[in-house]
Amino acid sequence: MGIPVIQQLRVGAYILKQKILGRSKYPLVLMLEPLFRCNLACAGCGKIDYPKEILNQRLSTQECIDAVEECGAPIVSIPGGEPLIHKEMPEIVRELIKRKKFVYLCTNAVLMEKKLSDYKPSPYFTWSVHLDGMKDEHDKAVCQDGVFDRCVSAIKKAKSLGFRCNVNCTIFDTAEEGGLKKFLNYVTDELKVDGITISPGFAYERAPDQEHFIKRSNTKNFFRKVFKSKDFKKWDFSHSSLYLDFLAGNQSYKCTPWGNPTRNIFGWQKPCYLLGEGYVKTFNELMNDTEWDKYGTGNYDKCSDCMAHCGYEASAVTDVFSSPLKAVSIALKGPKTEGAMAKEIDISKSRDPDFFHDTHVSEMMKKLHAEKQSEANNSPIPSAGAAINPKSDLAKQSK
Ligand code: SF4
Ligand code: SF4
Repeated sequence: MGIPVIQQLRVGAYILKQKILGRSKYPLVLMLEPLFRCNLACAGCGKIDYPKEILNQRLSTQECIDAVEECGAPIVSIPGGEPLIHKEMPEIVRELIKRKKFVYLCTNAVLMEKKLSDYKPSPYFTWSVHLDGMKDEHDKAVCQDGVFDRCVSAIKKAKSLGFRCNVNCTIFDTAEEGGLKKFLNYVTDELKVDGITISPGFAYERAPDQEHFIKRSNTKNFFRKVFKSKDFKKWDFSHSSLYLDFLAGNQSYKCTPWGNPTRNIFGWQKPCYLLGEGYVKTFNELMNDTEWDKYGTGNYDKCSDCMAHCGYEASAVTDVFSSPLKAVSIALKGPKTEGAMAKEIDISKSRDPDFFHDTHVSEMMKKLHAEKQSEANNSPIPSAGAAINPKSDLAKQSK
């Protein structure tokens, strides 16, 4: 089953509680990014374009625990960068499971097989392996030969040890309907994964390849063709039926970015996991002070083609609770794959893009240099060979 029963029940109870408390905005999945460094450099990645001083920064175990407790979301997804590079990752995962959070550890699987013994199978813990297609397609997407084989080997090993194992697949405009169906059958029949997360790639402004992000209308047509397959029912998507229906163009949702708040080395990221338009120190500031209406499809140029699950799954889940019969009906029948689509949001009045990346980078670099300088000034016995004080936060945070 894509989502374990215990998770469905706990998350359902959590959402009901939010509704009873009258909260209209609440987090569902915390996106915890403890580092940006990665051991791959995928063409469609918008997360790793930072100077090495920033790539060397890590959230500590305590900072991760604090973020999880501050946020309160029942699910914690740990993307990156590559989380398995972080030396404290096994401890972070253990601490979150101890707090009964459902942890999804997202990895490109290059290090996964080697690191499996650092983790224990649990209904609260799922490996989420980045896999964008069959061998040729995936190795091309991650710009390195042999990665698909490592993913497959790691997934098989993890499954044999009793771990829950999902794949997360990003769709670009190069994807072919036949290729994706073959891939979905392969991970279902051969790898027997526990769930499949699927999402159109977001057009990251810092990604090296800007040409292959998929447009909204193409996304909907593409998913309609794929979901038409006779095999659709056996594919175990880790999504609500209404998010799949949205992908197929049958729901006209606005995103709920506060449903997947993001904490990384810069702070709490505004407004969402995909866009870094500013950072605040606390989760409450993020929820209360963000001008949410400035973002989303129709409001902001950068959001025009976004249909990513981290923006819209929470919208779909909210709709499941508002319209349970509709959700059950679509879950039983599958998304509609023919006929008129839901009305598209008008993007003609979207505000122009702002660009913040360089400012965030230069502010962080100034802070790091100031910290380093202050440590050097306070050092009782300056050592000619020591570039970094081994007791400094900077060194502690480095891998
Ligand atoms: S997409 Fe993931 S695996 Fe690829 S470079 Fe970015 S963080 Fe690394
Ligand atoms: S549409 Fe929403 S989720 Fe997508 S990038 Fe914009 S704010 Fe984020």
